[in-house]
Amino acid sequence: MIKIADYKKIVGEDKIEQLRRLASLSRGKKVVMVNSTKDGGGVAEILTRLVPLMRELKIDCSWKTIKGDPTFFNITKSMHNAMQGKKISFSPEMLKYYREVARKNAEELDLGSADIVVIHDPQPLALIDFYKKNGAKWVWRCHIDTSKPDLSLWKHLKKYLLGYDASIYSIAKFSRLLAHPQYLIAPSIDPLSDKNRNLSQKEIGKVLSTFGIKKDKPIITQVSRFDRFKDPLGAIEAYRMVKKEMDVSLVLAGGTASDDPEGEEVLKKVREKAEGDPDIHILLLSPKSDIEINALQRASDVVLQKSIKEGFGLVVTEAMWKRKPVVGGAAGGITIQIQNHITGFLVYSPEGAAYRIRYLLNRQKIKDKIGEDAKEYVRENFLITRHLRDYLSLFCILENAKKNIIYV
Ligand code: UDP
Repeated sequence: MIKIADYKKIVGEDKIEQLRRLASLSRGKKVVMVNSTKDGGGVAEILTRLVPLMRELKIDCSWKTIKGDPTFFNITKSMHNAMQGKKISFSPEMLKYYREVARKNAEELDLGSADIVVIHDPQPLALIDFYKKNGAKWVWRCHIDTSKPDLSLWKHLKKYLLGYDASIYSIAKFSRLLAHPQYLIAPSIDPLSDKNRNLSQKEIGKVLSTFGIKKDKPIITQVSRFDRFKDPLGAIEAYRMVKKEMDVSLVLAGGTASDDPEGEEVLKKVREKAEGDPDIHILLLSPKSDIEINALQRASDVVLQKSIKEGFGLVVTEAMWKRKPVVGGAAGGITIQIQNHITGFLVYSPEGAAYRIRYLLNRQKIKDKIGEDAKEYVRENFLITRHLRDYLSLFCILENAKKNIIYV
């Protein structure tokens, strides 16, 4: 089992000591994290590691998920899309159903005794309506791009937000005018998890041969849920433009998340577009594919994340940590990870992606330097230890709202 002390060799002893001190201020506090899926997507990925580390630091932290039927998840997926700017109209019945599922979940979840409740994303947002707060602090942790939401939906969801004590966003652009304090906390990866730890060449080779991928030409990889905002079709277009000049292969690897009903449809379109090309590998991953994803990222020459909307883009962080140059769509959190030309390249179109992929594949030295700088940038900014520090600091702030100075 991974322990807090194991991170000393990666981030240094001081940072770990700082975490222990900060945690001592919230020792014994009951913190509950609530989201809508245990598998699939970045939120589940983060909570899987963050919750046990908080517990090791003696915060009484637990992780609960809400339950819903396909109708509910269709509504929340539409909400997710509308919050990211898509025009969708929600009937009063849909909004009533959304609230009703929250009511049913509230009966089972037992959040009433928590000191701090952290609600992730829009799916469980309405839970707050069914609790008496009794001094507990409720925080909304928004992981998606809410910079230009559909305004009628935003107006509706804002009613629930009125009861919250604070909200958290991944980047400043996503925050909105609200009466409560808003905080910026970037997501993170765990460098010691199976998804990110070092792998031997033998382990990498084994995964490649399982998927029938040969290392006889440069590999371009995009790992993501099959979601239209991740633009897998644009990734194929970029690959085709590169392929006109260089022999490369493209790996599109991903699964579908249990709270995402659109995955199948997008996957079908991707398969149609890729049909007949033996150098495009479409891999449908099962939820527990951490070593496979790790190996695919490590085996890649360039990692692509062609997203047109993105909350944060943990896959970008994962690849950067593995010293991979990433060509990423200039969307959401990708823009705070990729410092253009330094830790990767930001692009705005399939043409732009193809140009940068070719540029990198033709310049080994620059490619290596970008990979090195990307790794150090992640070490400084996007590892789980920094994330833990931000959450612990927020807990102190919430519990000491009236103090100007908090001594650690
Ligand atoms: N991931 C996974 N299996 C998949 C696709 C993605 O485990 O089939 C992981 C991926 O490695 C990353 C997270 O899920 O850790 C996706 O996070 P990101 O922020 O990139 O996107 P999200 O899915 O949350 O929009």
